[in-house]
Amino acid sequence: MTVIDLRSDTVTQPSAGMRDAMASAPLGDDVYGEDPTVNRLEAELASRLGFASALFVPTGTMSNLLALMAHCGRGDEYIVGQLAHTYKYEGGGAAVLGSIQPQPLENQADGSLDLNQVAAVIKPDDFHFARTRLLALENTMQGKVLPIEYLAAASRVTREHGLALHLDGARLYNAAIKLGVNAADITRHFDSVSVCLSKGLGAPVGTVLCGTEELIGKARRLRKMVGGGWRQAGQLAAAGLYALDNQVEGLAHDHENAQLLAEGLLAAGYEVEPVQTNMVYVQMGDRSQALKAVASEHSIKLTAAPRLRMVTHRDVSRGQIERVIDVFTEFNRQ
Ligand SMILES: *Cc1c(COP(=O)(O)O)cnc(C)c1O
Repeated sequence: MTVIDLRSDTVTQPSAGMRDAMASAPLGDDVYGEDPTVNRLEAELASRLGFASALFVPTGTMSNLLALMAHCGRGDEYIVGQLAHTYKYEGGGAAVLGSIQPQPLENQADGSLDLNQVAAVIKPDDFHFARTRLLALENTMQGKVLPIEYLAAASRVTREHGLALHLDGARLYNAAIKLGVNAADITRHFDSVSVCLSKGLGAPVGTVLCGTEELIGKARRLRKMVGGGWRQAGQLAAAGLYALDNQVEGLAHDHENAQLLAEGLLAAGYEVEPVQTNMVYVQMGDRSQALKAVASEHSIKLTAAPRLRMVTHRDVSRGQIERVIDVFTEFNRQ
């Protein structure tokens, strides 16, 4: 039985076309700025998203770290959601490596931050306080899409207060597909954007940070400092270019499959959160370990958690989703 891995959309295998593109990519040393495929990826995504410059890096964590450190110096502060990846899931890197103080705020139910609260925690220019420099948002946030009007309002608030605005757009294209807009309609509200190629887009590795020439220049220096200067990285960039040209539209299928899964589990009596993109959250309480074990017998990989997250991606078919629903339905009968 083929394995159905719902733990994350990072688990995808490169498609046949992607492997071909990788195998034939022209290469050079990217630390010298001489990898033509990396240069093409950076130029391509910067232009698509409306930025002057871009930097290809190994991971989203590194991309966010470089962005935060390029926007903020020692003793500066950034405002961020309690649930944000940069705050909660990146080892506190901005604080450890950048001496940047986070000012966390509760995320609202829709994944956004209350902009009145944001304005209220911006510190006055006074030597008692850290200097508030940046607001970081995430989109999608746990599968939820931030409305375009909200992004415009966040942009206004940050501009009024002289803050920069960063987007952790690990799943930017899921948001764009869901809203039926160009990704640039989302990113134009931001000063910098980090886009993962390794999530639903299906590349094996890689994230691109986009911003101004000046910001990306700083990020390039910092990338070398943290050991992210890589050499013939063009094969990975080729995977990213292939994903951007061929695997964006397919995200819509992932969203349909997530919807199908949610409806099936609701019908089977589970408590399921409304689905917007490719993530399904189910309240499992103390039954998550037992479910994980049963699922594993059916070659279904899950993360055990009271609030169970399942993520659809290009390597999960509609038929496989139906199999998952059957296993969950049977489990709930016991
Ligand atoms: C996956 C992810 C990242 C980056 O993760 P890496 O594993 O370091 O590539 C950043 N932000 C969000 C929201 C993510 O989901």
